[in-house]
Amino acid sequence: MKKPNMSTQAIWAGEQDSLAFGATQVPVVHSVSFGYNDMDEWYDVAIGKKEGHIYGRNTNPTVQAFEQKVKTLEGAEAATSFSTGMAAISNTLGTFLFPGDRVVSIKDTYGGTNKIFTEFLPKQQVEVVLCETGDHEAIEKEVEKGCKVLYLESPTNPTVKITDIARMAKAGKKAGAIVIVDNTFATPVNQTPLDLGADIVIHSATKFLGGHADALGGVACGSEKLITQIYHYREINGATLDPMAAYLLLRGMKTLKLRVDKQSENALAVATYLKTVDLVEDVFYPGLPEHPGHDIAKKQMKNFGGMLSFSVKGGVETLRHLLPKLKYANRAANLGSVETVVGPSRTTSHVECTPEERAAMGIPEGLIRYSAGIEDVEDLIEDLDQAFKTLPAFVTN
Ligand SMILES: *Cc1c(COP(=O)(O)O)cnc(C)c1O
Repeated sequence: MKKPNMSTQAIWAGEQDSLAFGATQVPVVHSVSFGYNDMDEWYDVAIGKKEGHIYGRNTNPTVQAFEQKVKTLEGAEAATSFSTGMAAISNTLGTFLFPGDRVVSIKDTYGGTNKIFTEFLPKQQVEVVLCETGDHEAIEKEVEKGCKVLYLESPTNPTVKITDIARMAKAGKKAGAIVIVDNTFATPVNQTPLDLGADIVIHSATKFLGGHADALGGVACGSEKLITQIYHYREINGATLDPMAAYLLLRGMKTLKLRVDKQSENALAVATYLKTVDLVEDVFYPGLPEHPGHDIAKKQMKNFGGMLSFSVKGGVETLRHLLPKLKYANRAANLGSVETVVGPSRTTSHVECTPEERAAMGIPEGLIRYSAGIEDVEDLIEDLDQAFKTLPAFVTN
């Protein structure tokens, strides 16, 4: 039988082993530990000879169902989960990087990831090299010099820059590096980095996977061998995913394909509309033909995703008036939710940088990150339109 498609897998994958009592839905198993009458069976489960659960920091049936579902969608052998996306990233890097090791990455990774690279890893004598995002030759050159880990993210936050994952994974493989890709923005609906040659895929499940902005979580997927090592690091260090959060994420993921298809469609329509607005300076969306990463995105992504950003004339002053006028958008720091979410990059993803640093990163003060929800797109565009039209004259002049 052929492999089921993404929408079918999003519904059915990973749940079978965690069902009980004939229930059709995975239960939230809140038990901290799992008891045994048979001492030999207990021992066998404890040493991993027999399937089963021992203690909630290590494994849990609800959490396991979540891991199984993500693993199937990413086409991975194995997956292990975490309390947050940042826990997934820090634990994965912590598993493989030791004093004297070298890691190559890009300048535009997620803010928290960037802090790990610039603040924490150097203190542990790990050499960190951050290349210009999208400068493939520069990354290849650094990778060739040797590195333990090549860490990528595509598309990036907030200007949705694109990196050629297949090309970079090839360079990484040649240098013997472990290639890690943060796939939070694209989701497996639009991009499966393991198929492009990456070794490990990471998600902040808090975003598109969960999709309802009501649960934090993270996950890493890859080969049995690598995930076993990451799992071991996590079970000891303790950044375990809570069963209730796992349940919410699992439930959200059933509609992942529907949501992300709609969000991608809405994002393209909104980006296309924004191009026609006088007050808009720049629109960043990989689905626009003029986006510098458009051709690579077209090659490695099925669709261009729900994230875009745009800058407005008049900078901060304009967005101070514009954003509160939107009726169908949360002004908040999250993304990937069913509701549209907007936020200035200077307040959200890059709040810790100075205006000069943001400018150097190509992030204008008037940049707005726009996470398209699943609302009717006509309503979203009308909402933006009325907001632009009600701007005071001193802003629009
Ligand atoms: C939000 C985010 C993270 C961090 O995830 P948390 O769940 O907030 O810890 C990592 N990478 C990307 C791309 C993100 O958007």
